Amino acid sequence: MAKIYENFTTMIDRAASILGLERTQYEFAKFPEREMIVSVPVEMDDGTVTVFQGYRVQHSSLLGPYKGGVRFHPTVDHDSIRGLAGLMTLKCTLAGLPFGGAKGGVSVDPAKLSRGELVRLTRRYTAMILPVIGPDVDIPAPDVGTDDTIMGWIMDTYSMMAGKAIPGIVTGKPVELGGSRGRHDATGKGAVYVLKEAMKRLRVGREPSTAAVAGLGNVGKSALRGMYEQGIRVVAVSDSTGGILREEGLDVPAVLAFKEGGGSLRDYSAPGVRQIPREQVLETPCTVLALCTVNAAVTEENAGKLQASILLECGNAQITAVAGDLLESREVTVIPDLVATAGGVIVDYFERVQNVQSLIWEQFEVDRMMKNIILKTFDQVWEAAVQHGVSLRVASYVIALEKVCEAKRIRGIFP
Ligand code: GLU
Repeated sequence: MAKIYENFTTMIDRAASILGLERTQYEFAKFPEREMIVSVPVEMDDGTVTVFQGYRVQHSSLLGPYKGGVRFHPTVDHDSIRGLAGLMTLKCTLAGLPFGGAKGGVSVDPAKLSRGELVRLTRRYTAMILPVIGPDVDIPAPDVGTDDTIMGWIMDTYSMMAGKAIPGIVTGKPVELGGSRGRHDATGKGAVYVLKEAMKRLRVGREPSTAAVAGLGNVGKSALRGMYEQGIRVVAVSDSTGGILREEGLDVPAVLAFKEGGGSLRDYSAPGVRQIPREQVLETPCTVLALCTVNAAVTEENAGKLQASILLECGNAQITAVAGDLLESREVTVIPDLVATAGGVIVDYFERVQNVQSLIWEQFEVDRMMKNIILKTFDQVWEAAVQHGVSLRVASYVIALEKVCEAKRIRGIFP
């Protein structure tokens, strides 16, 4: 397992040396402000009790309430949640959002739980982290293995304890409970807006281009749809069960309908479509490889085998620090997670604004404003990459760290 937190601190050190910062000016940015490890006992349907391990890591509240997703996945551990919390701080700062950064999660495979068990797990986890969250303190959101329904249960649990409805305790909740329109597809859509802009700047045409998508969770599916709608020929995709390949292009609407119907790619068949191991999707010759898996799809072991010229990091922490260097030396353009995944949290910011002001915005307004912010963010990163002569990946850390350190300098150290 890649060490997400170690990768995060390695990248912070690198960005600091490019900025010429002294250790005392930036070291705080490596450490979470507060960490909570909780036990989550759940009564299973058979009457036994299973105790799951849960976390909420609050990395920074420098620029606003802690903000970050809740992940239900077997790979969740202290290291990954710590690293992902740090990434949230940088992501929010880079996009100019008035948030800090956090992440939470439970080490569990939600697919193995019944609905009742999942409700009880969610409610008990919420109760355990209740002392440290709040609509102005720390605002959870969906992440891997969680969705709008689960956010609704968190909102209900918190509200029952408070004795009144507190919709602002989470973002990414159902629209019926005050969620924002356009949140469901926001991360994948944002990634494709940035990809389109990058291809324009790199002078890569969309029509003759090809793509592969690794991972077909919520973000993977909307990135797949978005690239297909842009006229990019998608030749390979994978999910957790397997991969499929068709050099002439997959029938994307058919693949999406198959996945929406609950299908696993290992069972997918269509004329001209070949089954391949899911790892092989990463090595498919194509123009764009969209990385939408859980963690660290690209490590030093496979970075040299990738054949795409553009990597779109649609999920958090998909590329280790060393793999990033290898890709840079091979002149592969990486559109980094700090920008490519920002669509979700940008729309979560809109959700908070709507909740605070009791506003309801139309989807087209949400999409337009999200596009505006994410493209501005990308432009800053592009300019910094040129200015410092570094990759987009390194540049994204450089700008975010610079802003965080400046905010810290202005606020000062308490007491
Ligand atoms: N889970 C999403 C992310 O990693 C959204 C987090 C949030 O909006 O709080 O960006």
